Amino acid sequence: MSQGIDVDTLRAETPGCANVAHLNNAGAALPPRPVTDAVIGHLELEARIGGYEAYDQAQESAERFYDAIAALIGAGRDEIAFAENATRAWDMAFYALPFAPGDRILTTTSEYASNGIAYIQAARRHQAIVEVLPDDEDGQLSLSALAAELDRGGVRLVAINHVPTHNGLVNPAEEVGALCRAAGVPFLLDACQSVGQFPVDVGAIGCDMLSVTGRKFLRGPRGTGFLYVRRDFAASLEPPFLDLHSATWTGPGRYDVRADGRRFETWERNVAGQIGLAVAADYAAKVGLAAIGGRVTELADGLRADLADLAGVKVLDRGRRRCGIVTFDVSGHEAGAVKTALRGVGVNVSATDIAHQRMDPYALPSAVRASVHYYNTRAELDLLVRSVAELG
Ligand SMILES: *Cc1c(COP(=O)(O)O)cnc(C)c1O
Repeated sequence: MSQGIDVDTLRAETPGCANVAHLNNAGAALPPRPVTDAVIGHLELEARIGGYEAYDQAQESAERFYDAIAALIGAGRDEIAFAENATRAWDMAFYALPFAPGDRILTTTSEYASNGIAYIQAARRHQAIVEVLPDDEDGQLSLSALAAELDRGGVRLVAINHVPTHNGLVNPAEEVGALCRAAGVPFLLDACQSVGQFPVDVGAIGCDMLSVTGRKFLRGPRGTGFLYVRRDFAASLEPPFLDLHSATWTGPGRYDVRADGRRFETWERNVAGQIGLAVAADYAAKVGLAAIGGRVTELADGLRADLADLAGVKVLDRGRRRCGIVTFDVSGHEAGAVKTALRGVGVNVSATDIAHQRMDPYALPSAVRASVHYYNTRAELDLLVRSVAELG
């Protein structure tokens, strides 16, 4: 037991734990058995009786998705949209914003590549101005710089990540939310790496939009994600894509857009994935997000300390508050080669790629990323550290 987490039981419910020391939870975590069972169960039902008929029968489990996600992040069920991944969820919000020439978009150095590319597209299409806020001395985004830029006016959007994909820092989302609210500027939070890893509450943060993926710390199926848009804010957004689910064709030349969060969805979706993600969200809530956050932080802090003790290893994580993502460089070894060598001894990590974080002046061409979850053990981390030490 660790901080109320029954690690042995949770590992027993995670078949992958028997095969690998899985430290690639920021890539895709190992799903627990109930998630896999729910997905396979629905696929089998579809095969047995037909896809539409299976949906009718499983409607309650599919609808559970909205309640489970809403409970997870402190939202209302009408503020949630299912998406096929976090990128499309984010896009549905971002591309709904009506940018005008000269509109300022403020973001961070650690922003994810897909978002960064979308900013460039908005700048080209609408002559919006993308501005990258500097980091403070701890490596998180500078709140004083944000406050100063908001004061200058003309900011159409603040869009940042909660936790970047390539570094263990946690950006101060609540403080950003407070500044945005005070300035009356919309706030889009990429919470892909934070939801499922520690408690995230949209009310406490004060964001207007938030995007999340299923497969990372939430331990859901691949090809799933969701978007949260604050109720009152959603009403002002015309989604970039509409279909017969998000809108109703009311007559020649006319349509009505749905009032709730599902205006950002499409009709056709991976129903098994949606059901699986609902099970994953309920599973995370049952384990307890505060307990999860405590254990993940404790394991990751221990790993950072052990890695820092190795000659030739440099831990790269920045920020005042750190999370379960541990990034490091091994002198004389390419990150990709370290990843391959570790896979050979049954340890899964990933290698970051500079092309995924072009705005980060501190990012190396590549670094090793070991991302821990609550089901990992000290023994698995020790195996990683020992194996890195043996690389020489
Ligand atoms: C993984 C990731 C994304 C993209 O999520 P997808 O589900 O792959 O679309 C966005 N932002 C961050 C910070 C990520 O780590």
